[in-house]
Amino acid sequence: MDMKKRKLSDIGEFGFIEKIKDDCHFNLNGLVKGIGDDCAVIGPYDDSYLILTTDLLIEDIHFIMDQINPVDLGKKSMYVNLSDIAAMGGSPLHSLVSIAVPQSAPLEILQGIYQGMKETCRNYGFNILGGDTSASRDRLMINVALIGEVPQKEILYRNRAEKGDKIYVSGPLGDSAAGLKMLKGEMKPSGGNQGYFIKAHQLPQPEITFGRGIARSGLANAMIDISDGLVADLGHICQTSGLGARIYQESIPLSEELKKLSTEVNFDAYELALYGGEDYKLLFTVPAEKASLLEEQFKDGQNGHLYPLGEIITGNEIRMVLEEGREKVLTIKGYNHFL
Ligand code: ADP
Ligand code: MG
Repeated sequence: MDMKKRKLSDIGEFGFIEKIKDDCHFNLNGLVKGIGDDCAVIGPYDDSYLILTTDLLIEDIHFIMDQINPVDLGKKSMYVNLSDIAAMGGSPLHSLVSIAVPQSAPLEILQGIYQGMKETCRNYGFNILGGDTSASRDRLMINVALIGEVPQKEILYRNRAEKGDKIYVSGPLGDSAAGLKMLKGEMKPSGGNQGYFIKAHQLPQPEITFGRGIARSGLANAMIDISDGLVADLGHICQTSGLGARIYQESIPLSEELKKLSTEVNFDAYELALYGGEDYKLLFTVPAEKASLLEEQFKDGQNGHLYPLGEIITGNEIRMVLEEGREKVLTIKGYNHFL
């Protein structure tokens, strides 16, 4: 292939990140983790690490202005960052917010976005400390950078899974993907609960409390949030840990609403749960001998629920035991900009 003519679509989002990863570090002082996890990690300061993450939302790529109310858009732009803080076991401290706004955008929309962001700051106890404002040709763009903290002894990375670990997820999967299909007009349920699915897509609740609970327990080995899809993000845990996974189809948690919808509209709910993405649930692994202790700690459901999915195995494949008992190798694919 002619290197000069190669485009982003030839290598995909993750190929691109691999390419730019080298030679990014010229100050190793306090650098614990650079590119490659849900957050970058620096420190320790006293007994804690600082963790940093950023996410970009672009009109017509991540949201359609007519389909989301501005307050919810402000919340979502914070939530997706909070989810990456949760994935390290951390809590948020401070944020910076940059926006690029078309000249014609009504002030009302911006006020709504900031109202949503500030409500989120109040609820989760963190600040907006600054940012940047620019004009944009015709699309609205929102970038949030968030810094958080996590006790040094409790931090969870995605690359520390070990053979034999049990795999868990923090909640039902696939609702957000169903909501996106409805927004795109690809799924048209006759009646019922569209609002539930659209909310799951537009306002995915960040699992800060749950993530802190897992981190505080000290029992887990690895954690990630599900943004690209269960198989893709389990793939990230496996690939960075040099291992594989076996999950059980019958264990994949689906909401009652999704089960009902899948019979009404006739689609495979598991397909959405496996590959849909943007669930923003936490996926983590726990050594088998510590699993019952963790389950005991979460028994009352106060800090969330644990849904066991399967186990970490040797190799580099993700296998799924189907409901009828046969085992199938899953293709590791998920959301990837440019592909
Ligand atoms: P997540 O889904 O958890 O937000 P991403 O898949 O977006 O993570 O990114 C994977 C890793 O690559 C992260 O460590 C992120 O900080 C890094 N990364 C993504 N895009 C860039 C970029 N343009 N420049 C430098 N690092 C990047
Ligand atoms: Mg993430």
